[in-house]
Amino acid sequence: MAYRAPVAEFQFILDHVVGLDEVVATDRFSEATPDVTRAILDGAGRLCDDVLAPLQRPGDLHPARLENGVVRTSPGYAEGYRAIAEGGWVALSAPAEHGGMGLPTTLSTAVNDMMSGACLSLQLNPLLTQGQIEALSHHASDEIRALYLPKLIAGDWSGTMNLTEPQAGSDVGALKTRAMPNGDGTYAVTGQKIYITWGDADFMENVVHLVLARLPDAPAGTRGISLFLVPRNLPDAESRPGVANRVKVVSLEHKLGLHGSPTAVMDFDGATGWMVGEPNKGMAAMFTMMNNARLGVGVQGVGVAEAAFQQALAYAADRRQGPTPLGDGGIVGHADVRRMLAGMKAEIFAARAIALSCAVAADMGTATGEADWTARAAFLTPIAKAWGTEVGMEVAQQGVQVHGGMGFIEETGAAQYLRDVRVTAIYEGTNGIQAMDLVGRKLADGGDVAWRLLEEVEQTAEAARGAFPDLAVEVWTAAEALRDATEWMLTREMTDRFAGAVPFLRAWARVLGAQLHLAAALAEGGSGPRSALARVFIRRLLPEHVSALAAARAGADDLYALSDADLGA
Ligand SMILES: Cc1cc2nc3c(=O)[nH]c(=O)nc-3n(C[C@H](O)[C@H](O)[C@H](O)COP(=O)(O)OP(=O)(O)OC[C@H]3O[C@@H](n4cnc5c(N)ncnc54)[C@H](O)[C@@H]3O)c2cc1C
Repeated sequence: MAYRAPVAEFQFILDHVVGLDEVVATDRFSEATPDVTRAILDGAGRLCDDVLAPLQRPGDLHPARLENGVVRTSPGYAEGYRAIAEGGWVALSAPAEHGGMGLPTTLSTAVNDMMSGACLSLQLNPLLTQGQIEALSHHASDEIRALYLPKLIAGDWSGTMNLTEPQAGSDVGALKTRAMPNGDGTYAVTGQKIYITWGDADFMENVVHLVLARLPDAPAGTRGISLFLVPRNLPDAESRPGVANRVKVVSLEHKLGLHGSPTAVMDFDGATGWMVGEPNKGMAAMFTMMNNARLGVGVQGVGVAEAAFQQALAYAADRRQGPTPLGDGGIVGHADVRRMLAGMKAEIFAARAIALSCAVAADMGTATGEADWTARAAFLTPIAKAWGTEVGMEVAQQGVQVHGGMGFIEETGAAQYLRDVRVTAIYEGTNGIQAMDLVGRKLADGGDVAWRLLEEVEQTAEAARGAFPDLAVEVWTAAEALRDATEWMLTREMTDRFAGAVPFLRAWARVLGAQLHLAAALAEGGSGPRSALARVFIRRLLPEHVSALAAARAGADDLYALSDADLGA
């Protein structure tokens, strides 16, 4: 079944669950009126349904390939990308002064979710450009901004992010790429980067690499990393791409999925680059790009989950296997298949609403400058990234299960969703690293943001006591258990926190997801499909917080009591 962007679902969540109206009430985002929002969601939906979704399968069957140094892209990708760029979809949230629309990140997050469901491999390209636009807007000189931003915003040029090296993955501080001053304000950048998404493309006028590298005599580790802008072609003063820079794609990786997205090994051989931001402060500048990309990757998971769910539902309505309690219809009538489908739908709603609440907090931080909003967005970002991608994997694998044997057969496309989405839990900081960020840096405020969020969960539960007394008690009780576990975390050494970080994040996602489901049920007026879905989530999925919190509070001793040899090493 062809993917259909769930436009009405976004409209409901934005209007009734995450409070886009608060964002629109600010001066900064006053142009995102209900009419504009509706037009954006409808337009993005049409692009996804008509142009991008048909590219999902060709990208899988005909991967990007390297031919005489040129990255040849999958059939139809050039036209699909043009439609994205010409529609202004790269730059929805980019600054208006350079040609962007200046709309809230909340809207671009919704659009990114839809585009990921339609064709994840192609969507990665504009996602990285969006992050680069944000990093340059915040950290680059006026000259660089004037030269590069209009081209990136128009979608004529694309952006990449170059952190990873063979010895430097999660440990970015181990990177060795060097940048030597040329004496004219530019730098010669030398080194090898691996796994670079959309490192080049035959349809792109220019590709702009943001590269982490070390200056001579830089301190070791992350304190000695600077950020450089290295274009594939050196532009002249009018932003026309000129002579080729000393950077090339050495090879493309053969991957489990995401075949349409070229993942490149890049060689920088004294390539001309310009520093972005301060010397040795490259990680801070790159974090601007990475935070944007983390939320974007979270909704990649949600978008793929949506597509996998739609396909599984259509299959289950059609496939007949004996009588069900609902008669002789499709397998959707069997209780276990219904359990899977209802669970998938409930998970998607919760993960999507968490990501959109994170985006609202980021927009409110931008619009008001209030530290509380920024801190809230920072707290929710690792949850949105890790949980959105966990849901992507879980729902895609359930999608295969709903198909039975046909799920394992490539022609249905169910397996492609599972293969494609797998990497989202790995890139942009693995989900383990996200969880460590949550229990480390994001609790460094002593729990301030956590307590505020938990108070809000309890307020929603209080508000629901009349309409849903049983569900309200379960949500309130779960919030209290999470409060206890958060207090426990705050008293422990980092090794204990890290040992329980992933289940702790999972418990947060369960509790926040339950709150958002309750809010949707209340907005619906106390009965109807959203109330029924909230019941499924709170009765069947929320209870997982109990086992998750037991694991979160287990500490690290039992893990290290097993020696490497005990593990069989
Ligand atoms: C398809 C694809 C596209 C990518 N695109 C880009 C890109 O555009 N630009 C870019 O720069 N990179 C990119 N990457 C790289 C990606 O970000 C890294 O793969 C990721 O950061 C993990 O690094 P690694 O692969 O070296 O794994 P490792 O860091 O070796 O991690 C292996 C395992 O150890 C765990 N681990 C590592 N350190 C710790 C720790 N301190 N505590 C606890 N657990 C730890 C990890 O969570 C993981 O489970 C891409 C990767 C892929 C596969």
